[in-house]
Amino acid sequence: MEELATEIRRLLGERNAILLSHNYQTLDIQAIADLRGDSLELARAASRTDAEVIVFAGVHFMAETASILNPEKTVLLPDANAGCPMADMITAQHVRAEREKHPRAAFVAYVNTTAEVKAESDICCTSANAVKVVETVDQGEVYMLPDKNLALYTARYTNKRVHYWDGFCIVHHSVTSKHVKEVKAWYPGALFIAHPECRPEVLDLADHVFSTSGMARFVAESDHDEFIIGTERGLMDRMAQDHPQKRFFLASPKLYCVNMKKITVEKIRDSLINLEPVVKVPEEVARRARAPIERMLEVV
Ligand code: SF4
Repeated sequence: MEELATEIRRLLGERNAILLSHNYQTLDIQAIADLRGDSLELARAASRTDAEVIVFAGVHFMAETASILNPEKTVLLPDANAGCPMADMITAQHVRAEREKHPRAAFVAYVNTTAEVKAESDICCTSANAVKVVETVDQGEVYMLPDKNLALYTARYTNKRVHYWDGFCIVHHSVTSKHVKEVKAWYPGALFIAHPECRPEVLDLADHVFSTSGMARFVAESDHDEFIIGTERGLMDRMAQDHPQKRFFLASPKLYCVNMKKITVEKIRDSLINLEPVVKVPEEVARRARAPIERMLEVV
């Protein structure tokens, strides 16, 4: 594994490439990445890099976002089948139809959407900035898509009227309040920190709600030493590695994203050697999708 990591670092140098890893990737990938972070941090990094090649250890919509922000660069997704089921729950046609029904609403697309869906939206958001983005738009009502749980969470912190698409993350939505109550009963001293993609009744049980990087920062700064984690286990594994003196418990065994885990170090190496699979958003779609992403990056 050490040899493979060294080979990947060498290839990254030769290709003038940067490796961006989402917080849900396996520890071996996070360890060799130039940057590990949440969707917002990775989008910012993708918008600023001087590298000629961006290797995305994440899922398809993240690589698309990097391609939209860097049309002249080569963006690689080491497994072309690493998709996001939530992003696939809404199409551009759906958005156009919902716009006709809600003409006064600003359409706020979670970054977990396809480029075509972003192209039909007014502004993007991530789980780290959703409330701030909604507060920033001029309209008194918003339509959030595709995650109903993120929309319902945001609605708790804004006076604006919030409409939403009935989509969800199959990983976070699988966690039930029953799971969490059981784990809380086993570890009564632990703080429960949850991701806003969880169901409202699960968030009601949380001591704090954060994006993935928000969780990592909170755990690093907290005096507490036991945490129940309500997000994908890749982040928990990293926090356990970073803080061996603290104890972490997963809120549910279902917090495992098979799509995120399709990326492996071997596939990253092969991708750098062959410079494929490439993710390239057609220019006409990229041009329209760029505006809502850049609007988000300007406000937060
Ligand atoms: S964790 Fe959920 S939102 Fe993230 S890639 Fe997996 S299915 Fe999509």
